[in-house]
Amino acid sequence: MREGLQKVVSSDDTIVAISTPLGRSGIGVVRLSGSGAEAIGSQFLKRPLSHQRAVPCRWQGPDGEVIDDVVAVLFRAPQSYTGEDLLEISAHGNPLILNRIVSMTQVAGARIANAGEFTLRAVAHGKMDLIQAEAVRDFIEAQTETQARTAFRQISGAVSRKIAPIKEELIDLVAHLEAGIDFAEDDVDVPDAGATADRVGRVRSALEALQETYSYGKLLSAGVRIVIAGKPNVGKSSLFNRLVAADRAIVTDVPGTTRDVVSESGSLDGIPMQFFDTAGVRETVDHVERIGVSRTLEALTEADLALVVVDGASQSGDEDTRVREKVREIPHLLIANKCDLGRSRDVEELQPIWVSAKTGEGLDTLRGAIRNALGDKRPDVAESVLTSARQHEAVVRAVAALASGEAALRGATPHEMVLLDLYAALSALNELTGETTTEDILGRIFSTFCIGK
Ligand code: GDP
Repeated sequence: MREGLQKVVSSDDTIVAISTPLGRSGIGVVRLSGSGAEAIGSQFLKRPLSHQRAVPCRWQGPDGEVIDDVVAVLFRAPQSYTGEDLLEISAHGNPLILNRIVSMTQVAGARIANAGEFTLRAVAHGKMDLIQAEAVRDFIEAQTETQARTAFRQISGAVSRKIAPIKEELIDLVAHLEAGIDFAEDDVDVPDAGATADRVGRVRSALEALQETYSYGKLLSAGVRIVIAGKPNVGKSSLFNRLVAADRAIVTDVPGTTRDVVSESGSLDGIPMQFFDTAGVRETVDHVERIGVSRTLEALTEADLALVVVDGASQSGDEDTRVREKVREIPHLLIANKCDLGRSRDVEELQPIWVSAKTGEGLDTLRGAIRNALGDKRPDVAESVLTSARQHEAVVRAVAALASGEAALRGATPHEMVLLDLYAALSALNELTGETTTEDILGRIFSTFCIGK
């Protein structure tokens, strides 16, 4: 079992949980994992089970009462998701029935699993590393196909495979330097500092490339908040509807009717987005509208990007200027809408992105500008992507340690000091994959899972 996990995981403890959503459905699945899974299940299933075989049978109470017709599949350790004996019972998807099955296994000695505990056990038994475990959660939670595809690549080990040779090279470098130190007096080849620094540099660049994928991975996993701001009637709601392709906000000709902040989720090339369509930002005496205006300003300060909309066919006025001043502090794009009605000269001077929410003109350009403004540096499709802050932080630490080691080698610092840096880099990578880990990190990761995963 992996270091740091013995305290948290014991296979002697058999865990149980309903692994399907709580609700009524055709089938619901109860999972049992641990050394007692088969023995506990067999008390209620009156047929012998065999590895990886679906066995149709009955779940029967101790008094002989038949609870349900089920299909039981036993996966013997280590060929199971958790790496332990694992029993999956597919019953009818009624929460009452599933809960009865769970309670009976509890009486027989199983305990309810904690959030993410099945996956935690998979990590503990070396069935997957921590990056893959995080990806299981992301895969289940994915809201766009791109998110799902990226998470699945991580589950399949794309990132882990990238890190493995980097780690090997580092271990080799450490061995090389250690040997140089241990045998320095015995006339053994002392490693050439320049060549070693080059090797460290190559490892660092490989990790830096991985580190950079987080700018896209972050957008992909966290999504972004976009605010659409501008004075009433310039076409914010219409544009917003075009962008999320849903008819949510009310479109009218009376200025100042979008009084609240309306939020809608959508996605741009697989990046989940939350759009906030805001009230106009003009000075207003209407109380209700003023509430809308102050909410707009609040939403603005929390946005990743503001789309400032002006009416491109009319003269730009003080109100437009005021909106632009409000967004000065955050990334923003200036959009001139209604270009189908003409292009006013003073708006032209502001060099906006011209669009028409009515005809759809310029929307592709706008989408491209949004991607650029968000720093969407999309790697190749097949590229492995870091998607969590934890992964990114570990890689950043490894890169920093390697940069320091490289500088030390070039500055003729004693190899003992360089080794400290290389060990620091290795330890950051071990944390990344979960080879070494702390209860604190595990707690943080697995508490974000649902029970039964
Ligand atoms: P908001 O108050 O800024 O949210 O503006 P709306 O989206 O409610 O639009 C105000 C009016 O302008 C509505 O009558 C829309 O149909 C119209 N409108 C919006 N976009 C365009 C456009 O690109 N071209 C034209 N001709 N009319 C538009």
